[in-house]
Amino acid sequence: MSADLTGTTPDTLIRFDNVTKRFGDNTVLDDLCFSVRPGKHVTLIGPSGSGKTTILRLLMTLERPDEGTIQVNGNRLFPAPEKERREARKKIGMVFQQFNLFPNMTVLRNLTEAPVRVLGLSKDEAEVRAKELLDLVGLADRCDAKPTQLSGGQQQRVAIARALAMRPQVLLLDEVTSALDPELVAGVLDLLRDIARTTDITMLCVTHEMNFARDISDDVLMFDAGKVIESGPPEKIFSDPEHERTREFLGAVL
Ligand code: ADP
Repeated sequence: MSADLTGTTPDTLIRFDNVTKRFGDNTVLDDLCFSVRPGKHVTLIGPSGSGKTTILRLLMTLERPDEGTIQVNGNRLFPAPEKERREARKKIGMVFQQFNLFPNMTVLRNLTEAPVRVLGLSKDEAEVRAKELLDLVGLADRCDAKPTQLSGGQQQRVAIARALAMRPQVLLLDEVTSALDPELVAGVLDLLRDIARTTDITMLCVTHEMNFARDISDDVLMFDAGKVIESGPPEKIFSDPEHERTREFLGAVL
């Protein structure tokens, strides 16, 4: 693979070049270009339907772009031979709005399944790592519970630990608190603030929690109709946005 083909530099971990995604007649992402540097925390904001979740789903290879290229850490994700796509994909973990835990497995097994199957760790190695992570998220004593025996906030903590168990370079967070009862939201956001502060993991985050976005983000990207219409540090975007559409959006959500 030549450097010319990838176009990435050591300063770029995620790179979208001219990405277009359509669902039927609906152009959801429109010639989108953006990049994220390693270790940065980037928040995607914008009205519902502006394409934010689709970006995360493309990175998880749950969707394919119609046009353009996506690269992760110098590996092509799209278009790419399957082997290279798998390598790129391994670097990425995602936490979903609805937790998406394996309901028939214990909490511990939820964390060990993919590291054993995909990364080739031994069961013992995977369990040691899983227990460390459950300790980190405050659930060391719930290894043997099934997801349905946990509160929504606890399930989301397990989902965060499960994503980290794959040692991803990139953590994708898709409105991870929007399915939670209000009293459980703060605990999950505090955990994510800790992870942002204490690890070098790169985060790409879709959220309606603007205070959280302000706290953790190095950069905020404002989307409208499948394009980035404005981007910058949170203090600029939230306090002094340039685009009328950004002002309208923030006026409605803040
Ligand atoms: P956001 O996260 O900004 O709310 P999404 O990326 O979820 O936006 O969705 C963008 C648009 O794509 C919406 O109009 C949505 O209805 C449409 N869309 C998303 N997924 C699909 C799908 N699998 N099939 C058809 N349309 C979809």
